[in-house]
Amino acid sequence: MSEKERLFLTIDQALDSVRIAFAQYTSQFNLLAVIWPMVLGDGAYVLRDAHSRSIWAKMSGNTKLIPSSEDNLKQRILDRLDRYPPDPQHLARICTLVFGAHVKAGSGPEPDALPGIWIDTDMARFVCNQCGRCCRTLNYHDGCSVADYQRWQDLGRTDILEWVGTIKQNDQVTACRIWIKPGTNDFAETCPWLARSPDPNRYVCTIHDVRPAICRQYPGSRKHARLTGCRGV
Ligand code: SF4
Ligand code: SF4
Repeated sequence: MSEKERLFLTIDQALDSVRIAFAQYTSQFNLLAVIWPMVLGDGAYVLRDAHSRSIWAKMSGNTKLIPSSEDNLKQRILDRLDRYPPDPQHLARICTLVFGAHVKAGSGPEPDALPGIWIDTDMARFVCNQCGRCCRTLNYHDGCSVADYQRWQDLGRTDILEWVGTIKQNDQVTACRIWIKPGTNDFAETCPWLARSPDPNRYVCTIHDVRPAICRQYPGSRKHARLTGCRGV
């Protein structure tokens, strides 16, 4: 299997990918209902009223059902995963469900690699039709990594850096957001690097070779593509 079909993520990267997938997916109650007890523990479950569609959640060790929402379930799952990162085997089981792909625990390709997960993405034969939908509609704002920022710095791409908001600690960039209109705190309405192709109904990324990792990795799996409206085949 080629590296294109297999993707290695450290535990932190996998948790970031789960966060991004949750933010990009539309209604996912059935997925959340399965993951909830895997993360919150035995005895935890969620219910949805068939008539009112209201959601109720029970925490492990608590007898009460509390009113909830899909966003609330997602946030609690992410908070718990951040606070108590699962071991790679357990994370692989969670990611199998989130990404709809075969996921295994393992170590990265480098000799001193960190533990993490390998995802069989089944994306080697994926063909993007350049519809531009992902660039126009998905929420990428928190998807820029410090590694992206450093790469643009190393390449002297001040034109790109102008559109990146940063949080610094001791003069070091610790977090980034894209794409922020230069000189403001406002997000751009659409990605500033998206342009119409000469071909009708097609778009191109004008920073294709140096686009952020979140764009390079989209869609992460067939399920990710399906659930986020991707029209590739
Ligand atoms: S940087 Fe490129 S790939 Fe990423 S959203 Fe913008 S146009 Fe799309
Ligand atoms: S939505 Fe899918 S097909 Fe359309 S540009 Fe993005 S990756 Fe390509």
